[in-house]
Amino acid sequence: MGLSRRLLNISLVMLLWLTSAVVVADPVAFQWLEAPSDELSLAEVQSASDDQWQSIAAGETLNQGFSDGTFWLKVPVPPEPVNRVLEISYPLLDIVSVHWETAGRIVETHHTGDTLPFSSRPIVHRNFVFLVPSLTEPATAWIRIRTQGSIQVPVSVTPSAAFLANEQISFGWQAMFVGIVFSLALYNLFLFAIVRHVTYLWYVLAVVATGLVQLNFNGLLFQWLWPDSPDINRFFTVPAVGVALFCAVTFSMKFLAIRHYSLWSHRLYQMFRLVALITVFYGLFGPYQSGIMLVSAMAAVITPVAWAVGLLIWRRGQVLAGFYVLAWTPLLIGHLVLAISKLGWIPRSPFTELAPQAGVAMEAVLLSFALAYRINLERQRRQAAQEHALDVQRQANLTLETRVQERTEELQEANEQLKAISLTDGLTHVANRRRFDEKLAIEWNRALRHEQPLSLVLMDIDHFKQVNDSMGHLVGDDCLVALAEVFKNEIQRSGDLIARYGGEEFAALLPSTESEGAFLVAERLRQAVARTPVYTGDDMVPVSLTISVGVATLMPDQGASSQELIRYADEALYAAKASGRNRVVVWSEDQVAPTTHA
Ligand code: GH3
Ligand code: MG
Ligand code: MG
Repeated sequence: MGLSRRLLNISLVMLLWLTSAVVVADPVAFQWLEAPSDELSLAEVQSASDDQWQSIAAGETLNQGFSDGTFWLKVPVPPEPVNRVLEISYPLLDIVSVHWETAGRIVETHHTGDTLPFSSRPIVHRNFVFLVPSLTEPATAWIRIRTQGSIQVPVSVTPSAAFLANEQISFGWQAMFVGIVFSLALYNLFLFAIVRHVTYLWYVLAVVATGLVQLNFNGLLFQWLWPDSPDINRFFTVPAVGVALFCAVTFSMKFLAIRHYSLWSHRLYQMFRLVALITVFYGLFGPYQSGIMLVSAMAAVITPVAWAVGLLIWRRGQVLAGFYVLAWTPLLIGHLVLAISKLGWIPRSPFTELAPQAGVAMEAVLLSFALAYRINLERQRRQAAQEHALDVQRQANLTLETRVQERTEELQEANEQLKAISLTDGLTHVANRRRFDEKLAIEWNRALRHEQPLSLVLMDIDHFKQVNDSMGHLVGDDCLVALAEVFKNEIQRSGDLIARYGGEEFAALLPSTESEGAFLVAERLRQAVARTPVYTGDDMVPVSLTISVGVATLMPDQGASSQELIRYADEALYAAKASGRNRVVVWSEDQVAPTTHA
């Protein structure tokens, strides 16, 4: 992963730069003794024999881990013609008293420490800083220290000008740290407001809590936020670390989705959270010293474990864990260095003090980057999901379209069938009256347009009532079917239509047919019926039928209607009946005369 390596390089360079920016003050050699339980007075300390004192070389830090005892320091300051300050650069010491002695006399006394109001400090500074009282005479600082936290006493005596110069850089770094933490927290808070993903909120809480812990370790919260309430110091440090660990662990769980990659790690993290929570309460209500030891031990355990879990989950395929491991690395180093120094195992130095802060800053930056990267990942995932959904929808649409088309075709077919049924006579299967009416209207208009004659042949079965009465309606129906068959066979010209006009009446519509032609067709029909007996059953006598036929032919003109054609044909049919049946009568202008006889 090229990007990771580049980021790691940048991180290391940043770490080196940040730590090298801290100018080391001028450390001094001094002597110290511990009065385990009972208090010694200043006079007793001043008159202590040489073998009671132990020596610390310049550059070494008095580092005693945790102790209930009182520590006395004897710091000789030789004369020098510049203003100087004595600095104890560990702001969490509970009680710090400084007695300046020159020429065998105590000339100045200061009582301060983080259990006293900030105003007790002779020089306003997050650390304990005292002006050396004399430029010309040798001075000795008798310093009494008691603290429940870890005993770290880095002492330096620095010319005021150099001290100020150092302070510029050191304070600049603190301001930058605050800026990084504050802006990242704010930025991710905005992200949370928009993305509504709880991971961002945990990030914000973790970064803010960790930032506060760091500032507290540097004595800045006391100076900035509650300089008049030193009691808060005692109740802040341990719970704040507990809260920071809780938030950081929760963030890790959410960010890495640890549960999905390693249930075992998930359980472990849950346990860490529980311990962190207990620490918060322990810090609020329990003894301070064991609380500090507890959080130190916790940080020392959780930091490397979190790093290892990140590595494990990275190897199990969680891409984001790569960033996590990367971000955690400087913090791991920083925390380890600090925790170990707090336990008194390695000497304290500007590096040990600033390393975790630089680690926190880099972690915050890298994780913020990872969170941004995560948005990218989620967008890709969402895109893939969207494409998949689109695919599914497309497929569904396609299926639907085919179905609709199939259904439409089926419906069309059904419609056509229905239409055919609605236009066909159910018994004889020739066109019904409705079809006849439609066709008549069409052909009438066509004949009108083309100025062609239109002929209508109306046929009525003779004495059909008798057939019904003597042989039954069913036989009558069979006769109708048989006659329709006969008519169909005779009417073959395309354009001609044979229809069942009424009960036992049929009609033949003959477009473009002159009167003579129509007569010939009618006659042919009449003869066909007459010569075709109808067999209605195996053991039945065949029925002989005849028809009377009326024929009318008109040249449709603008004023006339198709109903006239029907009326004329009907009149001719009536005439055929009247003149004896089984004959064809053609309607003519002046009279309706029978044209043929049976
Ligand atoms: P005509 O020679 O004067 O026509 O005598 P007809 O008995 O045929 O009298 P008409 O034309 O009035 O015929 C009506 C009879 O036709 C009544 C009924 O018995 C018969 N009929 C009409 N429609 C049907 C039908 O759908 N089925 C059957 N079986 N008979 C029908
Ligand atoms: Mg009739
Ligand atoms: Mg009849």
